[in-house]
Amino acid sequence: MTLSESQAREQLRASGLRATSARLAVLQALSRSPKPLAHSELVKALGPAAGCDPATVFRTLTRLVETGLATVVSQAGGMDRYALGSGSAETHEHPHFICSDCGSVSCLDVVATPSLEVPRRWRRSVQAATLQLQGRCPDCLA
Ligand SMILES: [Zn+2]
Ligand SMILES: [Zn+2]
Repeated sequence: MTLSESQAREQLRASGLRATSARLAVLQALSRSPKPLAHSELVKALGPAAGCDPATVFRTLTRLVETGLATVVSQAGGMDRYALGSGSAETHEHPHFICSDCGSVSCLDVVATPSLEVPRRWRRSVQAATLQLQGRCPDCLA
């Protein structure tokens, strides 16, 4: 779902944040992206737009995560990748694919998650599991 500028403004206001141009731009860029974005990918996607230098984008992401407007949904390859919304950790429960060539992370919605047989002693301990697929993405294969 792509956020219009007024929707982005409304979300910031509802979370008690001032609608700075950087916050609006980052929220809208996240909403336009079909996949979670790393800080560097966001900086690239935003281009040299006013007020969107890498440090500003980083601070903006930190604020958005603190207020629940964005969430880190993947840490593939040790890099945080962000998506919109506090519920996005749940909506991104599907496996993610990380491309070893271009480094992009994609959402794989339709993969059937294999069930794991956990040793009896550990059954009550397990709270989360992450399945991550790796290889060359269709764009890099083409
Ligand atoms: Zn790729
Ligand atoms: Zn995802």
